[in-house]
Amino acid sequence: MTGIEIYKHLPKTNCKKCGFPTCLAFAMKVAQKQADISLCPELSEESKQILEAASRPPIRLVSIGGNKRIEVGNEVVLFRHEKTFYHQPGLVIRIKDTEPLEDVTSLVKEITDYSVERVGLKLSLDGFALANESKEAESFANLVEAANSNTDLPLILMSTEPAIMKLALGKVGQNKPLIYAANRDNWQEMAQLALDYQCPLTIFEPRGLSQLAELTEMVGQKGVEDVVLDPGALGFAESVDTLTQLRRLAIKKNYRELGYPVITFPCDNTASVEEEIVLAAQHIAKYAGIIVLDHFSPSAIYPLLTLRLNIYTDPQKPIQVTSGVYPINNPKKTSPLAVTTDFSLTYFSIAGELQSSGSPSWLLVCDTGGLSVLTAWAAGKFNAAKIAKTIKQFDVANNINHQSIIIPGYVAVIKGELEEELPEWEVMVGPREAMDIGRYLKQNWMAHSIPSPLKGEG
Ligand code: SF4
Repeated sequence: MTGIEIYKHLPKTNCKKCGFPTCLAFAMKVAQKQADISLCPELSEESKQILEAASRPPIRLVSIGGNKRIEVGNEVVLFRHEKTFYHQPGLVIRIKDTEPLEDVTSLVKEITDYSVERVGLKLSLDGFALANESKEAESFANLVEAANSNTDLPLILMSTEPAIMKLALGKVGQNKPLIYAANRDNWQEMAQLALDYQCPLTIFEPRGLSQLAELTEMVGQKGVEDVVLDPGALGFAESVDTLTQLRRLAIKKNYRELGYPVITFPCDNTASVEEEIVLAAQHIAKYAGIIVLDHFSPSAIYPLLTLRLNIYTDPQKPIQVTSGVYPINNPKKTSPLAVTTDFSLTYFSIAGELQSSGSPSWLLVCDTGGLSVLTAWAAGKFNAAKIAKTIKQFDVANNINHQSIIIPGYVAVIKGELEEELPEWEVMVGPREAMDIGRYLKQNWMAHSIPSPLKGEG
């Protein structure tokens, strides 16, 4: 709704109780999603219902799990550059009840404990899809119990047999697993289980989006609100086509019956682990909410976690570190001082290279609003004046007994300006790439003489 359309439903008394000077100002803020309609206490019930329905996100936010959760949905754009993507897809590993329980236990523990660090963030997998491959109730119940007692990550319970699903829900239903799946044959019983255990429900309908919408509507009429869709799309071309149609229908056409997150199975119908990972990467970009994989190995998972982080980082809010002086490898007062910007990727690249080079050093980080070296320089946020100011701000002279500073090779042009700002200092031009800093220090720092007077060893 536009601001004017919203305004038509407001009381137009300009009473200011919402915190805005006029109803029109409030309407404009609501339209820009900077204020919530509930701030107006004067709305009639009818207007409230109309405006709340209109302001509902086109894709419902669905939460899976107990203490640790996968939250997916609530997306409002087709392309990240239009605004941002809000909820990254959950990456889960499928385990079948035909696998030996000892293997299950160790695999569940390994996957639960797996994490990698990138730009200061911990990246990890999100849960398990437990599949009733055997079609036997007891095997499935054993798998569910074994997994549940070795992880606190969310679970997806996969069986199309309501009686088997009920048994499994009896063991872990309180942890709000995702039920997979209701189909044309079992939807009444599965919907009832979702209501009884207050769990989200997957709707599987591979015959087409119209049929999927019909089934979703029937499940909705039974009272199930938290739904995940499986359109049964397999392969590269079919899944990009189907998932894009689903996203378009939800966001551009406001088609409520298909306004739910989607679960995908790149593990099915792919010929190799490599193909599975590439298809999963496609699903991260367009437009899965939960992605089920069959294979777990750090080398396969790491690129997916990195890709997901890149796509689901708000481009308007760069990840940044706090400016300051960072000691690396227990530096002394004689150790070299390098300077960089506060963009996380820049900081962690150079800090990581310094650390692995083994060279004790100081890394001065300037506040550039989270911009990388060249971008910050081009924006006038990483220049001689800023570096000189940051040196004073963090009393760098107290940490070191020399007056040499290494600037990134990409901003070699500011060497002269910095020498003017810091007339007592020697300005050294470092390498362009972070990976060359270790070699640079070995070749240049050891050979270079520390200006006197020394203030004593640190
Ligand atoms: S509280 Fe409601 S009626 Fe009062 S100014 Fe705000 S929008 Fe208008």
